[in-house]
Amino acid sequence: MEKRCPADQSELVSQGKAWACPTCGAHYRVQGHCMDCGAEMERLQACGASNWFCPQCNELKSRTRVRTSLARD
Ligand SMILES: [Zn+2]
Ligand SMILES: [Zn+2]
Repeated sequence: MEKRCPADQSELVSQGKAWACPTCGAHYRVQGHCMDCGAEMERLQACGASNWFCPQCNELKSRTRVRTSLARD
């Protein structure tokens, strides 16, 4: 998925877990919200793949049940 800086629409560069904008230097992280209950989710890294866990539903969610957004770090 392509990510763009909300401020200047530059394409963000991956820096581990964070994303950096080469134009304005802002750092962002990806936040996930559960589509079932709306709670903020935890991102779990396992075997190179990332999974989303909802603490409120107490279960792992597939990507299609996660609404992601960029939060400024
Ligand atoms: Zn920017
Ligand atoms: Zn949930």
